[in-house]
Amino acid sequence: MNALAATNRNFRHAARILGLDPKLEKSLLIPFREIKVECTIPKDDGTLASYVGFRVQHDNARGPMKGGIRYHPEVDPDEVNALAQLMTWKTAVADIPYGGAKGGIGCDPRDLSVSELERLTRVFTQKIHDLIGIHRDVPAPDMGTNAQTMAWILDEYSKFHGHSPAVVTGKPIDLGGSLGREAATGLGVVFATEALLTENGKSISDMKFALQGFGNVGSWAAKFIHERGGKVVAVSDITGALKNPNGIDIPALLKYKDDNGTLKDFKGGDSMDPNDLLVCECDVLIPCALGGVLNKENAADVKAKFIIEGANHPTDPEADEILSRKGVLILPDIYANSGGVTVSYFEWVQNIQGFMWDEEKVNFELSRYMRRAFHEIKAMCKIHDCNLRMGAFTLGVNRVARATLLRGWEA
Ligand code: GLU
Repeated sequence: MNALAATNRNFRHAARILGLDPKLEKSLLIPFREIKVECTIPKDDGTLASYVGFRVQHDNARGPMKGGIRYHPEVDPDEVNALAQLMTWKTAVADIPYGGAKGGIGCDPRDLSVSELERLTRVFTQKIHDLIGIHRDVPAPDMGTNAQTMAWILDEYSKFHGHSPAVVTGKPIDLGGSLGREAATGLGVVFATEALLTENGKSISDMKFALQGFGNVGSWAAKFIHERGGKVVAVSDITGALKNPNGIDIPALLKYKDDNGTLKDFKGGDSMDPNDLLVCECDVLIPCALGGVLNKENAADVKAKFIIEGANHPTDPEADEILSRKGVLILPDIYANSGGVTVSYFEWVQNIQGFMWDEEKVNFELSRYMRRAFHEIKAMCKIHDCNLRMGAFTLGVNRVARATLLRGWEA
């Protein structure tokens, strides 16, 4: 099942649990606007190359639309649509005053030089600059993009609209970025994990963790898990996977990755087939890479008792059912990885206030938001007798439906 079909299915299930008016249900599913642009740039060798860029703006009932921009070869309109919709529910679960959007360019950023990436980002911004904005749609980093990408978007956007730091989040600190934003998704994943484990009478220090993905989300999550005494027994990145049942030395691995750009050939563990990571012996599995990795082929073999979705839509609905039947508790993406967009909100607030918070305040507020959302999800699970994914979906969808009705949506 593709990402959009899976996301729509979860939404429809939540709408049925909530008893939403079918017309409201239909209208909440239809994106506000879908933008597709052709971005042609001169390559360093003098030839021309063309890339397709997307921005899907899903919903703005609760505020400006918000979501990352991803550079990845598998970016396609359905995937961006699904991710934009997930952002609408995610910002509502976090209870931050935003709607949802997502963008992407179909390219492999590893095949482009820094100056080619800069040209591509500037051309993309030129094509969408009048459709984004501080109170309209606020992009941020996602897979394959980072603070530098946001700096280029900010610079290009400002040529048309004047200096506007709040038009993007996840910026470099020197351009108005927030302290703590870089680590926020990984830290949020760990706050979410703590909330779930505490509720189940466990703690991070008693658990063995496997993390798929060692990029911005996975590497920070591993660091915070290690600092809390948790044992990371398996990690993977795009180049391969590594296991060590006695616990991987995470500070050493972070340094190795920093120096070499990869986990490959790190000596502190044995290499393993990356597909085995998802089904390895561990208590907590944290997928932090691509979507759809847990599916009907591997779900029955998962050993973890807890899954924390650091990635967006890593579990397809068939796997969800198999895992639920096995009694595995899954913290869904729209809650588990919401730390990134939550600190994006703090960054936007700081830019609008013109006042910078210290890192302690950012992290304290993040922990407060993550804890609050967890308890609100649990309350929905209790009211509707449903699992955590439906608890989160009903919480988010209900907030968006209420805002839509209050604005005067006519049935
Ligand atoms: N790309 C991140 C996400 O999927 C962050 C989005 C943002 O900060 O706006 O949630």
